[in-house]
Amino acid sequence: MNENYVTLTIGKQKNIALIAHDNKKAELIAWCETNKEILKNHFLCGTGTTARMITDQTGLPVRGYNSGPLGGKIVEGKVDFVIFFSDPLTAQPHDPDVKALLRIAQVYDIPIANNKASADFMIRSEYMNEEYEHEVINFKENIKKRSETL
Ligand code: PGA
Repeated sequence: MNENYVTLTIGKQKNIALIAHDNKKAELIAWCETNKEILKNHFLCGTGTTARMITDQTGLPVRGYNSGPLGGKIVEGKVDFVIFFSDPLTAQPHDPDVKALLRIAQVYDIPIANNKASADFMIRSEYMNEEYEHEVINFKENIKKRSETL
């Protein structure tokens, strides 16, 4: 790989973000309950209401953030796995925030599940118990080059 990319490592213990639109919150909470034994081995965070409801109903510790700052956590390398039960059938006033989060996850090559089946496949992946190295765009190098050439 060239200098435009850096190798980052998703650790054995993942920093998992849990997010659900209102119509999907119950489904995500049930999914967390089903997968509690796996999830308790990782660090959990999520959007405010989702995080609170998961903690109240499953006992799992989930740190709450607003969706904007949660995207920031991905950029900082502090979130490296996202489960997002989105609702495709209801208009969402904060749709741009959601799009931003999806885009950031895509740019940073972060595993992201947007429905239960994807989440099931991801959470049972052999990589859940291993480190995973991936190539992520090197923004420092990008800024250096642009500032020298623009
Ligand atoms: P909430 O946020 O968990 O606070 O409801 C989720 C969302 O932004 O849809």
